[in-house]
Amino acid sequence: VVQKILGRLSPAITIGGRELFVTPSIGITLCPFDDRTGDELLRNADTAMFHAKAQGGNTFRFYTAELNARAERRLTLETSLRHAIERNQFLLHYQPQVEVVTGEIVGAEALIRWQNGDKGIISPMQFIPVAEETGLIIPIGEWVLQTACAQLAAWQAAGLPKLRMCVNLSVRQFRNLNLVAIVGRALAASALDPADLELEITESIMVEEQIVIDTLRELDALGVHFSIDDFGTGYSSLSYLKRLPIDTLKIDQSFVADIPNNADDAAIAQAIIAMAQSLGMRVVAEGVESLEQNRFLHSHGCDAMQGYYFSKPLPAEDLAIVLKMNKVLPAKH
Ligand code: C2E
Ligand code: MG
Ligand code: MG
Repeated sequence: VVQKILGRLSPAITIGGRELFVTPSIGITLCPFDDRTGDELLRNADTAMFHAKAQGGNTFRFYTAELNARAERRLTLETSLRHAIERNQFLLHYQPQVEVVTGEIVGAEALIRWQNGDKGIISPMQFIPVAEETGLIIPIGEWVLQTACAQLAAWQAAGLPKLRMCVNLSVRQFRNLNLVAIVGRALAASALDPADLELEITESIMVEEQIVIDTLRELDALGVHFSIDDFGTGYSSLSYLKRLPIDTLKIDQSFVADIPNNADDAAIAQAIIAMAQSLGMRVVAEGVESLEQNRFLHSHGCDAMQGYYFSKPLPAEDLAIVLKMNKVLPAKH
């Protein structure tokens, strides 16, 4: 029955000379198997329908108790996420970026942490997707930009060596018309040189609408830098790569993990470095954990590296100590 409904709804509907498509999502619950009361059944069907939507829509899902448990866990997460900013539960850790040739720290990536009272530290992998879906990424992202810029300004004021601050941005933040103003405010409040700020975006930016690309160009006009994070895991258009104001590619850590032993990964890493060089871009390798990876990347001309081999992401005070000692991290070969 559900397949028939989906089938009937799939042809284009012409309205005002335009062809429009509906992508129905259907949730199914069974009585008396799942429940007996009308309210509960409707709620189950709703949960299943949202699950169908989350799978891309134009499909159906049956209700299961696990779906409900999952929806509840998510709701709890979402509710506490809503209060996290006012409760000062976010903090940033900073992971140094090390220049391959000199071993000097040339940058730091700001990585958000959520200290959620009883649950301890929650990984961004867990809550950033929820923040993106709920739109909470907008205020959270603004907090990250403000805090990271203020931190770099404080390090500069303390006379620490010059470095670039890298901040992760979700594509969702680019769809917000205020992004340029938000970045502008963070720069103004901290009186940073825009060139000291690097915004990390993912390849998914390249399949976005024109408005996203326009925002990228406006930010570029402010003087900030851009890097493509997790490069190699998404869909990149090479002509876009050339036309967009991107100056750094960050090789995804999945390609770094098994070099030099895995020949495919080694070939991919090498190809990314060669491509970046011929497009006049910098290359940063992520997730560098060993001397062998370090050597491989050095010999293939990678510009900078980030990873546990040098340092985990650190609280601001700890990175300041490392910077103060002007400690050259072990990029020795
Ligand atoms: P990412 O931007 O690709 O960050 C790199 C991740 O790899 C970080 O995880 C970092 O702690 C981890 N990492 C660094 N070195 C190594 C290593 O040598 N080995 C391994 N196995 N891992 C390493 P983290 O901090 O859990 O962040 C995960 C992701 O969450 C980030 O991936 C980024 O996409 C997102 N994220 C973090 N902070 C923010 C933020 O402020 N805003 C947004 N929109 N996303 C953020
Ligand atoms: Mg990143
Ligand atoms: Mg990455």
